[in-house]
Order: sequence, then structure tokens, then C-alpha cells
Amino acid sequence: MKSAADFTVIGAGVIGLMTARALRQSGASVTVIDQNAAGQESSWAGGGILLPLYPWRQAEAITRLVEYSLSLYPALMATLLADTGLDPEWTPCGLLMTQNPDIEAAKAWCQNAHIRYADATAAQLEAFSCTRVNPLWLPDIAQARNPRLLKALKQDVLNKGVQLIEHCQVTGFIHQQNRIGTVCTTLGEFSPGQLVMASGAWTGALFERLMPDSSLDKPQIAPIKGQMLVFAAEPGLLPCIVLDGDRYLIPRRDGKILAGSTVEQEGFDKTATTHAKQRLHSFATELMPTLARYPLIAHWAGLRPGTAQGIPYIGKHPTIDNLSINAGHFRNGLVMAPASAQMLADILLGHPTALASGPYQLDNPH
Ligand SMILES: Cc1cc2nc3c(=O)[nH]c(=O)nc-3n(C[C@H](O)[C@H](O)[C@H](O)COP(=O)(O)OP(=O)(O)OC[C@H]3O[C@@H](n4cnc5c(N)ncnc54)[C@H](O)[C@@H]3O)c2cc1C
Repeated sequence: MKSAADFTVIGAGVIGLMTARALRQSGASVTVIDQNAAGQESSWAGGGILLPLYPWRQAEAITRLVEYSLSLYPALMATLLADTGLDPEWTPCGLLMTQNPDIEAAKAWCQNAHIRYADATAAQLEAFSCTRVNPLWLPDIAQARNPRLLKALKQDVLNKGVQLIEHCQVTGFIHQQNRIGTVCTTLGEFSPGQLVMASGAWTGALFERLMPDSSLDKPQIAPIKGQMLVFAAEPGLLPCIVLDGDRYLIPRRDGKILAGSTVEQEGFDKTATTHAKQRLHSFATELMPTLARYPLIAHWAGLRPGTAQGIPYIGKHPTIDNLSINAGHFRNGLVMAPASAQMLADILLGHPTALASGPYQLDNPH
């Protein structure tokens, strides 16, 4: 059996890597295991918008994590860039929202969250062909280029001495009463110390498979497929993120423009479909007709870790002493990651948490 680190994290997505980083910064030894290469699943596939799509329509528990994360993001991105030389392209490009029937709720939410807003101007909307309902402009909303953020995070945890074991699938646990004594994997057995489940969309199924005992508390997390397209456009063509109904365009610094996304319940099937490609292409080119001049260069799908209300599970398992969870971030895992990681690290290290942790515990509704 391989020797025990203080903490073993299952899953090297944005949640697992940021949790590992926060734990390692306390001086603890940390091992991260992933069945794939690090950062290649939902955290790679996402758009990287650092705000929920309509945050005023979300649960309060999401707002709390979002506000906390937004306070951490700028310094975290600057530190990652300085320490790794890899640029996560954190860019406060602003967010234009074309349709806000609930404008009063939107403005009240922005005021409470100290997020600047203004009515969108005719000039800002000129390039778009869409229905306009109280269009709103949030000038400080940022994006991260998530594949690059994941590369930087991976490099940073390696630099800090985290042991990262890739292409190693967790296949079973051996319980000893109220402890996990052994983690079984395709590369052998590990003695886990404290075990952190940060396995994204796979976390619910992993719990079911590994803990068939129905009396144990388990997270209800289901895979929700999301598809995206990218156009090879030019820098400056689209200056900001645009949200139109439930779909959006995101401009990267090099001019590429992402169009997303779908929300589909297809189990663990990650096939990118022709139907979704056509629908997203029509959405993008109807919203911004000039985009039709640029080639579509990629199309992919990822699996979001879906929970009923989108509230993640962050905390210790109520009955298994050395087991904890940080998963179920659904559509907002990139924006909620720094706060979620810090909260779980604080809980596991016995530090006070910046936010009340109650809403995220396994025995609360998600
Ligand atoms: C199309 C799309 C657009 C999105 N846009 C945004 C956005 O704009 N903003 C935002 O905040 N969020 C967005 N999201 C959501 C966000 O991507 C997710 O909430 C977030 O990435 C979840 O991170 P994670 O680390 O929990 O999961 P993942 O990144 O999926 O990581 C989980 C890891 O666990 C590993 N794993 C699973 N099972 C095992 C096992 N048995 N053994 C070992 N390893 C295992 C996997 O290989 C994987 O690497 C989007 C998602 C999609 C799909």
C-alpha cells in the first residue's frame, strides 16, 4: 500500500486542484488522483464566465460563495501568473445582458453584491440582433480562460509539492467502521489519511458505487451535459461577454469567440452532436451577424456536476470520519472554486470559515 499523505483528493478539476492548493499552503502533505490528465473534464469544457448567468435567480447560498470568490479572484490570478509564468487570462471585459424582465431584482442584487451596473447603451447593442428587454451592462464582470487557468493551477500545485497522480481511476474503498481505510485504484491501493471527494459530475455515482449502504448520507449529483462552439474571429470584434436569454458569447484575448451552451441530461455521454452544433451556430450568427464570416473551429461537450438547486456540497461526511466532499458546483464551478476550496480547507484544518458552512453540508437540501 502506498504511504499516506495527510490529504488525498480525488479529482484534479478546478475544485480538486484549488482545494489541494489551499490545503498544501498550510504545510500539509497532499496527493491528488485523477482518472484522466488533470483539468481535462468540466473545468476545461466550461466558458469561464465569473458570474452565474442570472445570479438574482439563484439560491442565496450561491450568491455567498460567488461574492467571496470574486473577492479572491484578482489576487489569485495575479499570483498564479507570477508563480507559474502561465497566464489564466483573467480579464474583466464586462457582461452585457440583453433581456432582463426582472430588472428590479437584478439591480437590487447588484447593489447588495457591490457590483457596478448601468443601463446598456444603444452603441453597445448596435452589433447585436436580438430582443431587448431592459438591457443591462455590468462593466466589472470578468472571465478566466479556463483551460489556461487549469494549466497554471496544475503547475502551481506541482511547484508547491503536491503529489499529482494522473490516469489513475479510483475503483473502490475499504471501510473500517467509520473510516475509509483503503482507496483502491487502477494503480494500486492508497492509505488516504483524510479523503476529499472532488470528482465533479462523477461524485454522485462514485458514492453510490462505493457506498451501497442506503443508510449513509450521499450527495445527489448528476451529470448535465453542456456543449460549446468556438469561432476563429479577430481581437476586438467582440469587446465583452454577451448573455442573450440562456445562451452567451465569450471573447478570448486572441479573438476567438465561444458560443454556449446547451443543458442536457444524457447521463455520462459526452458526444458533441450535430443538432447542438447547428443550434449554437444559429444562435451565435443570428445574435451577431458578423460572426458568420468567421470559421467555426471547434465544438465540444463537458459534464457539469448538477445538483437540484446548483448548491455545492462542501464539508465533512456526517458519519465517516476521514471523508469530505467538495463537489456539485453545476453551472458555476469556475466562479465558486476559490471560495469553495478555501471553505473546505478551513473546515478540515479547524480554522474559522469566512462564510457560514451550514447550507453546503450533506444533510441540507441542495
Ligand atoms: C459547457 C460548459 C460551460 C460552463 N461554463 C461555466 C462558466 O462560464 N462559469 C462557471 O463558473 N462554470 C461553468 N461551467 C461549470 C464548471 O465547468 C463546473 O462547475 C466545474 O468545472 C466543476 O469542476 P470540478 O472540479 O468539480 O469537476 P471536473 O472539472 O469535471 O473535475 C472532476 C475530476 O474528477 C475526475 N474523476 C472523476 N471520477 C474519478 C475517479 N473514479 N477516479 C479518479 N478521478 C476521477 C475527473 O477525471 C475530473 O478530472 C461550465 C460547464 C460546462 C460543461
